[in-house]
Amino acid sequence: MTARQSSGPRSVTLPEAITVKGLSDRLGISPIEAIKRLMTHGVMAAMNDTIDYETAAIVSSELGIAPSPEAAPGAVAPAGRADEEEATEEAGAPRPPVVTILGHVDHGKTSLLDAIRDTNVVAGEAGGITQHIGAYQIERGGSPITFIDTPGHAAFTAMRARGAQITDIAVIVVAADDGVMPQTIEAIDHVRAADVPMIIAINKTDLPAADADRVKQQLTEQSVVVEEYGGDVLAVPVSATTGTGLPELLEAIDLVSEIQELNANPERLATGTVVEAELDSRRGALATVLVRNGTLRQGDALVSGLISGKVKAMFDERGERLKEAGPARPVRIMGLEDVPAAGDAIEVVESERAARRIVEQARREEEGAAGARRGGITLDTLFNEVSAGNVKELLLILKTDVRGSAEAIRGSLQGLGTGEVKVKVIHSATGPVSESDVMLADASGAIVLAFNVRTETSAASQAEINGVEIRTYEVIYQLIESVDQALEGLYEPVYERVVDGTAEVRQLFRSSRVGQIAGCYVTDGTLLRGDRVRVLRNGDEVADTSCGGLRRFQDDVREVQQGFECGVVLERFDAFEEGDLLEFYHQQRVN
Ligand code: GDP
Repeated sequence: MTARQSSGPRSVTLPEAITVKGLSDRLGISPIEAIKRLMTHGVMAAMNDTIDYETAAIVSSELGIAPSPEAAPGAVAPAGRADEEEATEEAGAPRPPVVTILGHVDHGKTSLLDAIRDTNVVAGEAGGITQHIGAYQIERGGSPITFIDTPGHAAFTAMRARGAQITDIAVIVVAADDGVMPQTIEAIDHVRAADVPMIIAINKTDLPAADADRVKQQLTEQSVVVEEYGGDVLAVPVSATTGTGLPELLEAIDLVSEIQELNANPERLATGTVVEAELDSRRGALATVLVRNGTLRQGDALVSGLISGKVKAMFDERGERLKEAGPARPVRIMGLEDVPAAGDAIEVVESERAARRIVEQARREEEGAAGARRGGITLDTLFNEVSAGNVKELLLILKTDVRGSAEAIRGSLQGLGTGEVKVKVIHSATGPVSESDVMLADASGAIVLAFNVRTETSAASQAEINGVEIRTYEVIYQLIESVDQALEGLYEPVYERVVDGTAEVRQLFRSSRVGQIAGCYVTDGTLLRGDRVRVLRNGDEVADTSCGGLRRFQDDVREVQQGFECGVVLERFDAFEEGDLLEFYHQQRVN
């Protein structure tokens, strides 16, 4: 090693992490020399790789330049705090809007996304085949617009339920020949619940059956009043097939975006949201990240939940390599140690070591919190939440058998709000409770009220996982009463017995192991192993306990149906008599 020339700096401040190039600039040496020096210490780093303070300090001292630590710009925020307040509240430079397209199936969401993407084939970029990476950005007269490439409200609300509200503007597509349909209304409700401004794209205007006026009228019925009718919602007639109206749609997006004054600070360390991710057999975890704030750079150390990593390489939607990506830019990154989930926050931290430390701490916290399930608001807890000042609005999602009952229920609910808390139905529709309803409830902190409709199995399990409450009612006044009582703090759950099956005791046996066994004949319904059982003798209840065992021919069984014989053992009951009636039942809440 040659001694350092006297013309160079005598001291240098170094951040907690720096690229090799950055270090060489500060030390006044060539990057190659920096790389060589690092190699002598066993550190194999390329020009854009990041090294930590300690390593950089060694190289610096070796050159006779005294290193000292630089005050970290914005100390490490805890993982997972990449929220949108940070992105928007912070003063900074204007950033492009992020747009999601929603609407009824087959109304042309995908076609519209493709058509918009095609408007952007800039000369010189030919040959770059666009890939679907979950989001793309177009350039419109110098102002870029980012589109989320997964259309529909399921994805939109799923992201929101994960705390990732990435959409600034929602474009609701309505086919001009088909008009407003159930999923159009659902999309409108989901967008409203998210408090995101909407633009209407009236699509398929090339078709002879197109009737844009009818669409506008139907929208008015949903309280979406377009400008032409005196409202403030922009509606643009388009055709994804012919391209008509696309420039006007993009202009409308620009306009709404300007009103919103979207800002971000490109100077800070990047935060972002995972839009899509997958495991590639060659390149490992690939994640499309939408940069929310700051600038993401190659070599940056990353944390996403329990995953750490580093941006080894970054690509745009055309597969071209990028060195950096500013706010609202979607980029596909390589270098995370595992595959994150869509909606996960991602954050740049100052060094890979810091990333690992944060992940380890998050993992420990996660283990500590294992078993604690996330609970949403429930009618039972509502009063406490209101008293504690945590809840000002009771948000409800109403699913009913017919529209008439929805209207009746909405009418009655409106009168219920108290001074402290308002009742607001954020979505109401006919049909079973779906996964999309549960997601909306989760994302918005709402309760689902199901009136004479079932809950889809997938929705029930989703609700269980996310702690979303689904209440089922068959009588309107009971529904109204329970909401009312919850608001008043009087709520007490009421249970009803639902009989699953009945059996008659015909013979008695005794087992040294389990005690008395009743030989029964199932007269009605089905006996379930997990049921509670009432023992009735001459019409009087002599016991109410739970089933301790069900047997057919020495085998333990889960259920026995009508017309079959079986052996029954009850918990803490050993006094059967021939002729006793056993009523197998379960409890169901009725309010
Ligand atoms: P999505 O389910 O909302 O994503 O709808 P798609 O984009 O898949 O479109 C559904 C169908 O409508 C496809 O057959 C499209 O070709 C057709 N389509 C979409 N946009 C237009 C349009 O502007 N005009 C006409 N005539 N057909 C369209």
